[in-house]
Amino acid sequence: MTVNFDPRAKATSLYHGEFRPMFIDGKWVAAQSGEVMQALNPATGEVLATVPRGGAADVDAAVAAARAAFEGPWSKFSPYERQCVLLRIADLFETHWEELSVCDTLDMGLPITRTLANRRRVIGMLRFYAGMATALHGEAIDNSIPGEIVTFTRREPVGVVGAIIPWNAPTAASIWKIAPALATGCTIVLKPSEEASLTPLLIAGLMQEAGVPDGVVNIVTGTGAEAGARLAEHPDVNKIVFTGSTLTGQAIARAAVTNLKRVSLELGGKSPIIVCRDADIDKAVPIAAMAVFVHSGQICIAGSRLFVAREIHDEFVRRLAEFAGKLRIGHGIEAETEIGPLINARQAGKVEGYIKAGSDEGAQLVVGGARLTGELYDGGNFIAPTVFGAVSDTMTIAREEIFGPVISAMPFDTLDEAVARANATPYGLAAGVFTTHLGTAHKLARRIKAGSVWVNMYHAIDPAVPFGGMKMSGHGREGGIEHLHEYLETKSVWIQTD
Ligand code: NAD
Repeated sequence: MTVNFDPRAKATSLYHGEFRPMFIDGKWVAAQSGEVMQALNPATGEVLATVPRGGAADVDAAVAAARAAFEGPWSKFSPYERQCVLLRIADLFETHWEELSVCDTLDMGLPITRTLANRRRVIGMLRFYAGMATALHGEAIDNSIPGEIVTFTRREPVGVVGAIIPWNAPTAASIWKIAPALATGCTIVLKPSEEASLTPLLIAGLMQEAGVPDGVVNIVTGTGAEAGARLAEHPDVNKIVFTGSTLTGQAIARAAVTNLKRVSLELGGKSPIIVCRDADIDKAVPIAAMAVFVHSGQICIAGSRLFVAREIHDEFVRRLAEFAGKLRIGHGIEAETEIGPLINARQAGKVEGYIKAGSDEGAQLVVGGARLTGELYDGGNFIAPTVFGAVSDTMTIAREEIFGPVISAMPFDTLDEAVARANATPYGLAAGVFTTHLGTAHKLARRIKAGSVWVNMYHAIDPAVPFGGMKMSGHGREGGIEHLHEYLETKSVWIQTD
């Protein structure tokens, strides 16, 4: 992706440590407690801005505003009018895409080439759901007494949606929650991660500019334990959509029981990649490497368990290490950077702990394995892309989600064995297969238990294609028509005509 502007200059004009209020009922407000949190740049440790540390009272105010908008002005918008609003938001996103991308890069470290490249994932989603807004319909069911009873279904918005998102893709995660809510006629209270609140606040400004009525979209910044927990248990929230760790997903599902609100969960993973004996190695090496190293491994779909056919295992691992060793690591704001920092010192320490566990448990460290130091890395949280060979399935690094730049390579002998080992995990988010044999591609795609299986590719996500997890990677799908059904209730209507 070519960068046609100076991201560093744009970054300098964006944040200088000032206070950025949150957005409730169309107004820019501080937390009722007056408390604030710092937004830090993970590449340098500098304070970009401060944001409100919203709590239960702020969530209550936002939910009340969302309820009033849902019952009031927003309910008068026709599907066509909602479509027009979504298209206006999409146009504003086009205009402000560089700014949104720079903000994401500054706040959570993903290199600018990558944040810019998320354009289709975000703006495509806005346009896809704009189109869907006018395509929703119920059904006439011709199953009653002819001429006497008419039966049909209506698709109605579920109501007030609470959305809680992680820090690793703030723009995409926000839009993947807000766009279906707007398309279906719901209203929404979104709580970004305390690690990355800035882009969701920029997005709120664009919503306002696009003519989204007050109260329809509300952004409450704050911590998970305070604002997040209140949103999850709030009795007047009809549905909660959550993206984040499996542990937090379990807490949210428990909290949602209070009023039995609908729950969709996009959670963690420990995704397998199977490289078959007949794979095109030249093609597979960079894709398998970036299936983890992109965003320093901080992606839910990281293909961190790499099963390689024994005949090609050593050669594959050698080439993987060579590729990893050449990656340019640095500040995401530089156009040539390929790999940015980890989100914070705590996460970097956690990843170092996993690397140590790998070595202690007998895995062979092939490349990386250390924190990067030196002038370029001062104040940031950088860990070198790391590959372990001779990993066995029982080792900690092969079982737990690391959320860091660590690949565990493991040889296999038969495809049956590879499938069984790939599926031997509580997670089921994604998987990759590399083969040049069409039959093998189909067989493995069918047998692997994961929400997405990519063959001879990885990472592809499209607004029209459902994405989500099986098993403890969650339930519900985002993308595609299925996504909208999660924001709708079906009402059956019976009319006696005589
Ligand atoms: P996290 O679970 O720590 O936090 C996610 C969000 O939940 C944050 O906004 C946080 O404030 C909030 N939260 C925390 N505790 C809460 C509570 N008790 N009640 C309500 N809200 C609470 O996750 P993270 O560190 O931000 O993100 C990393 C995790 O997210 C990884 O496990 C990753 O796999 C997962 N993830 C999944 C997907 C997906 O689509 N499946 C996408 C991105 C990230």
